[in-house]
Amino acid sequence: MPDDRLARGGLLVVGGGYAGSVVARRLGECTIVNPENYMLFRPLLAEAASGTLEPRHVVVPLRVLCPRAELIVGSATRLDESTRTLVVATDAGEYGVRYWNLVIALGATTRTLPVPGLSEHGRGFNDLADAIELRNHVLRELEAADAELDPERRHRHLGFVFVGAGYAGTEGLAELQDLVRDALRYYPRLRNAPQRWVLVEAQDRILPEVQESLAAYTAHLLERRGVEIRTGTRLESVDSESATLSDGTTIPTHTLVWTAGVAPHPLVEAFGLPVDERGRARVDQHLRVEGRRDVWALGDCARVPNAAATGPDPPTSQHALRQARRLARNLVRKPRPYRYRMIGQGATLGRYKGIAEIFGLRFRGFLGWFATRTYHLYQLPLLTRKARVVADWTVALFFRRDISELGSLGHPRRLR
Ligand SMILES: Cc1cc2nc3c(=O)[nH]c(=O)nc-3n(C[C@H](O)[C@H](O)[C@H](O)COP(=O)(O)OP(=O)(O)OC[C@H]3O[C@@H](n4cnc5c(N)ncnc54)[C@H](O)[C@@H]3O)c2cc1C
Repeated sequence: MPDDRLARGGLLVVGGGYAGSVVARRLGECTIVNPENYMLFRPLLAEAASGTLEPRHVVVPLRVLCPRAELIVGSATRLDESTRTLVVATDAGEYGVRYWNLVIALGATTRTLPVPGLSEHGRGFNDLADAIELRNHVLRELEAADAELDPERRHRHLGFVFVGAGYAGTEGLAELQDLVRDALRYYPRLRNAPQRWVLVEAQDRILPEVQESLAAYTAHLLERRGVEIRTGTRLESVDSESATLSDGTTIPTHTLVWTAGVAPHPLVEAFGLPVDERGRARVDQHLRVEGRRDVWALGDCARVPNAAATGPDPPTSQHALRQARRLARNLVRKPRPYRYRMIGQGATLGRYKGIAEIFGLRFRGFLGWFATRTYHLYQLPLLTRKARVVADWTVALFFRRDISELGSLGHPRRLR
């Protein structure tokens, strides 16, 4: 193993996602460990999947975002608290990085459940590769349906099942349904072919992250667009031809998107840090891991008590942002308790439709869509990225969506 090295300024940030990158950008002198050289802004992932946004515009290069920080592109694998060393696996091999202060911002991962066929036939929707693969797959399904002569088999190509009705599943389904609707203009033979869109949720309502009335409005809107919403229902099994639900329904489909089972990153527990029943790092009001002097945690991988709220923070980007700002201050000054009063929340549901609540005012439809987009734009770092996203949105107002299926990108033919 190569020699250990000391993190820049003694501060090591593990995970350069939304929370970690804000801490690193604010503090400057630090080392970031992240598997990619960019930060992915997940709230815009559904729009990248539907083709409203260019995939490159929903990511921000960490070297540009945090110019004074050192970036190690690699994955943390082990933590040795006795020597204050984090072991990272990189293309140059595995080595240790020593720290005086360690910030854990590993986010959440999608975990499958032991549902028969899920790991073989389910698709994730958590990162950029998932989103782009899903878009290409949906467009391939349209091509396959267009070429199909047998109506029953054609129907199978036009069946889409999303399991998990949080932000990811609900926004993902709404945006992809819009993509298919727009694309079908160019498939005259499929115009009257029946499609099936199903949103499956084990809890008794969709969008648990937002107020109940906004979730009810979303359910109503999706149902009007022909989406079948199955709450209180679980996925029982899936194979290459169909998905079966706990209510006994079998849906012919080749597309099962799994967004349920989101869990804090498993490394938090593997590092031996104190965790709650869900596996989130337990931190005090200063965002310091309980019982530790030099380890801090925030974002989706932590259970963060909020002095201005009744319970711990939900896993959203706006909370991650506020936690990161507080932690950046606590690392250089006398720590103060984290408190954040939520100003609003929202979601986009395809073109010109959305929900938002800001300072207690509820917006639905076009206003909800506009408010949510504006808020996402505010949260997106760097003026250049904001400008590119606004340019994409503007183009999308006047021109139709691109429906090229680019699944072969990244897999060039070998030289013969
Ligand atoms: C599809 C989707 C849509 C969403 N939509 C919304 C929305 O509309 N509004 C909203 O408020 N929130 C939304 N969220 C939630 C929001 O994205 C998260 O709350 C936010 O990203 C949390 O920030 P984080 O830094 O904790 O985690 P992340 O941003 O996920 O960052 C974690 C980082 O850790 C890195 N990492 C992973 N493993 C390792 C390792 N071994 N070593 C080093 N680094 C590692 C990852 O690559 C990543 O860069 C959405 C989430 C998803 C998945």
